[in-house]
Amino acid sequence: MDFDNGRGRSTPDRPASARQIVSRTPSVVQSLRTHSGSGVPFSVEFNPPRDAAGEARLWRAVRQFERMHPAFVSMTYGAGGSTSDRTVRITGELATETTLLPVAHLTAVGHSIAELRSLVGSYADSGIRNLLVLRGDPPGDPLGEWHKHPSGVEYAEELVRIVRDLGDFHVGVASFPQGHHRSPDLDHDTLHLAAKLRAGAEYSITQMFFDVEHYLRLRDRVVAMDPIEGAKPIIPELMPITSLRTVQRAEELCGRTLPKSVMTRLEKAAGTAPEEDRAAVRAEGIQIATEMAQRLIDEGAPCLHFITLNFAKATSEVLTNLGYGVTAAPISA
Ligand SMILES: Cc1cc2nc3c(=O)[nH]c(=O)nc-3n(C[C@H](O)[C@H](O)[C@H](O)COP(=O)(O)OP(=O)(O)OC[C@H]3O[C@@H](n4cnc5c(N)ncnc54)[C@H](O)[C@@H]3O)c2cc1C
Repeated sequence: MDFDNGRGRSTPDRPASARQIVSRTPSVVQSLRTHSGSGVPFSVEFNPPRDAAGEARLWRAVRQFERMHPAFVSMTYGAGGSTSDRTVRITGELATETTLLPVAHLTAVGHSIAELRSLVGSYADSGIRNLLVLRGDPPGDPLGEWHKHPSGVEYAEELVRIVRDLGDFHVGVASFPQGHHRSPDLDHDTLHLAAKLRAGAEYSITQMFFDVEHYLRLRDRVVAMDPIEGAKPIIPELMPITSLRTVQRAEELCGRTLPKSVMTRLEKAAGTAPEEDRAAVRAEGIQIATEMAQRLIDEGAPCLHFITLNFAKATSEVLTNLGYGVTAAPISA
C-alpha cells in the first residue's frame, strides 16, 4: 500500500498498527549492529517544530533523510503544554508513517513521575520503543538552578529504572565529553554516567563537541571505571556549523565556548567586513564536521549522530564528503 497524507509519500509497506510496529521495532543497538550500508552508521536529531510552517519543514527533512537510511532518528523534547503534545504526536507519526526508527527524548524536568509514566504510555501507544532518558534543564535558563518537581525525579538514573520497569523499552542516556556543567569533576561525571548505564541504559549519546580528543577521553574514562558498561556504545553527536552565531549561542547554553582552533578557522572564513561571509563560514563548518567525522570513524565510533535543526542539507554534505552514497535530492535547505 502506498499512501500520501500531506506529509510526503512514504514507502509501500506501511505497518497496520502501533502494536504491530512495536513488536517488530529493533532497539537502537540492534539497528547499529544490523546496519547494512557501507561504513559507520549515522543517525540524526530533530527538534519539535513550533508551528505549521516548521512542521512542514520538518517533514521535508524527514522524507529526505528517509532516502539516506539513518540507523535511527531522535526527537528532542521541550517541557510545556502544546509543544509537548505536538512532540508526542509527531514522534508517533515518525513511527507509524515513515520507515525510520524513532527515538523519543524523555525529560524529567517539570513532570511528576505519574506524568512521566503517562508520557511513556503515549509513546508506547504510537509504536515507540526507544527512549533517550534525560533529566532536562531548568526551562528558560539551562544553566540556572535545578529544582526537582515535587513528585518527580532528581536524576536521570532514577527515570531509567522507572522506564525499564514499565515494559519492553530500550533506553539510551546522555553523556558529556567535557563533563556535565553541574559535575564537580570528570570522575564524578563518569561515575554517574556508569550508574545510568548500570541502571539499564544500553548506550549513550554525547553532548555535541568540537574536539574529538574530548570524546576519546570520555570513552577511555568509562572503560577504565567500568569495563562492562564501557563496552556499551557511546554515540558522538556532531553539529555541522552553518552559522557562527547559532553555534556560539548553542555553546553558551552549555556553559562553554568553541575551541580556539575551531574559532580561528571560522573567524578567518567570516572575514573582516561588517557582515560575516556566511557562505564561507558554512563551507568551513561543513569541512570541520567532515574532518571530525572522519577521525571518529577512524577511531571506531559506533555511529555518527548529527544535529540537523530540521534541515537535511548540511548533514548530507558531510556524508557525501565522507564518501557515503547518500541521495537526498531534491534538497531545499
Ligand atoms: C544527546 C543529548 C540529548 C539531549 N536532549 C534533550 C532534550 O530533548 N530536552 C532537554 O530538555 N534536554 C536535553 N538534553 C540536555 C540534558 O537534559 C541536560 O544536559 C541535563 O542538564 C542533564 O541531563 P542528564 O540526563 O545527563 O542528567 P543526569 O544524568 O541526571 O545528570 C545531571 C547532573 O547530576 C549529576 N548526577 C547524576 N546522578 C547523580 C547522583 N546520584 N548524585 C549526584 N550527582 C548526580 C551528573 O553528573 C550531572 O552533573 C540533551 C543532552 C544530550 C547530551
